[in-house]
Amino acid sequence: MSSLGWWSPDAAHLLVDGGLRPGRAGRFPTVDPATEEVLGTAANAGAADLDDAIGAARRAFDDTDWSRDTALRAHCLRRLGEVLTAHGDDLRALTVAEAGVPVALTHGPQLDVPVAGLAWFAELAGAYEWRQDLGIATPMGVRSRRTVVREPAGVVAAITPWNFPHQIALAKLGPALAAGNTVVLKPAPDTPWCAAAVGRLIAEETDFPPGVVNIVTSADHGIGALLAEDPRVDLVSFTGSTATGRSVMAAAATHLTKVFLELGGKSAFVVLDDADLASACAMAAFMVCTHAGQGCALTTRLLVPRARHDDAVAATAAVLSGIRCGDPTDRRTICGPLISARQRDRVEGYLALATAEGGRIVCGGGRPHHKGFYVEPTLIAGLDNDSRVAREEIFGPVLVIIPHDGDDDAVRIANDSPYGLSGAVHGTDLDRARAVAGRIRTGTLSVNGAVWYAADAPFGGYKQSGIGRELGVAGFEEYLETKVIAEPA
Ligand code: NAD
Repeated sequence: MSSLGWWSPDAAHLLVDGGLRPGRAGRFPTVDPATEEVLGTAANAGAADLDDAIGAARRAFDDTDWSRDTALRAHCLRRLGEVLTAHGDDLRALTVAEAGVPVALTHGPQLDVPVAGLAWFAELAGAYEWRQDLGIATPMGVRSRRTVVREPAGVVAAITPWNFPHQIALAKLGPALAAGNTVVLKPAPDTPWCAAAVGRLIAEETDFPPGVVNIVTSADHGIGALLAEDPRVDLVSFTGSTATGRSVMAAAATHLTKVFLELGGKSAFVVLDDADLASACAMAAFMVCTHAGQGCALTTRLLVPRARHDDAVAATAAVLSGIRCGDPTDRRTICGPLISARQRDRVEGYLALATAEGGRIVCGGGRPHHKGFYVEPTLIAGLDNDSRVAREEIFGPVLVIIPHDGDDDAVRIANDSPYGLSGAVHGTDLDRARAVAGRIRTGTLSVNGAVWYAADAPFGGYKQSGIGRELGVAGFEEYLETKVIAEPA
């Protein structure tokens, strides 16, 4: 483990009502998934801490000017971006140690890009058209001037997973706070330090008023459930598995609380018959190994022309076998460890299932090291899109290769999924590749390696991949209510 800089192993606290405090349920360990060693402990929030955090967020929303003071919000977000940037190397070390994120990725989507995105939301808060004049009309014979007013939703419950701890937390904090809400953030039990470090910097180095941001780390998933069903919460913004998303939606239904869900995926990487097969297969191989396949939007089904299937299998296996799977502190690593023994068991369970379903493990499948929760980059062939490994989210460096019989068939297979999060299309004829991308029912698509991820691009899923959009203006508007005021004219 590299130096954790200003962070000490037992310094992680809750952030409640502007203050750092211990958790009433004691402390719980956080583990380095690359070494299996306990890094230290984090504050374990009890139900009473959560109650305090929601109460503080409620008061900060109801009793202060936060929701109306756009300039203060923009200032606080910009300052947060500066502080996180100044502590970039400290946060980088924490993220690598706790989440097993390869350090190279922290220079992109795992840290630096989402931190930079805070300034975009600060800018948007200032530029947004909060009031829109509909003009004078005479509805039902009454001459009236109507104004559409956009207002913050209120108290936001933000519940996040472990795989992109900073990206997902900031993709909720940025737009929710810019829109004028107050937030209770509940991160995943596997990555409490990443969130607690942000909490400490908010408390010590920013100007957020007390109660505007609250961060409750907990070993207990039940704290998330309590948060989702609390009647003082106005909006639940959840990122995680589809199964948990269903529970969150059911809990929120108790009080008909608005929900916003970013869930799982099983995205297709479509290789058209005019594509450069070798480079497309190489890209698909690198994609599925990024952060050991622990990304909801990674492409995990590789659809290749049937006539070139065997060549594609050989090309993909050759690249996967050469991908370095190891130490996340090494700048050359893209495939680090899985987050936990439980997650590795789950991935290995799917590999056994693939064989049981009649599939073939072409390469990988083993554990490359004695220590750390690693699984080798793996290619599964010989199964069709009906197999469970082609339908269910594995969340490991595992690619399933499936033949297709032309563009229509590729679109059919890509869309034959309970999920609809992302995807990729590769072909030499750009118009044709674009047309295929247009027919795939997912929230994001990459054509020939182009990148969609940025603060201004909405991200989210069709079907069981979610409800709503994160980031972009659409993501900001998820955190708003709409009101119409009519006055005599
Ligand atoms: P998870 O669903 O197990 O947990 C996510 C969060 O929900 C955690 O904070 C957890 O403590 C909390 N939680 C668990 N049970 C709860 C309940 N009943 N009520 C309220 N909160 C509860 O997910 P995970 O294992 O942490 O993360 C991996 C999953 O996240 C994958 O399925 C992945 O696809 C998904 N994910 C989706 C996106 C996206 O934007 N679509 C992004 C990243 C990860």
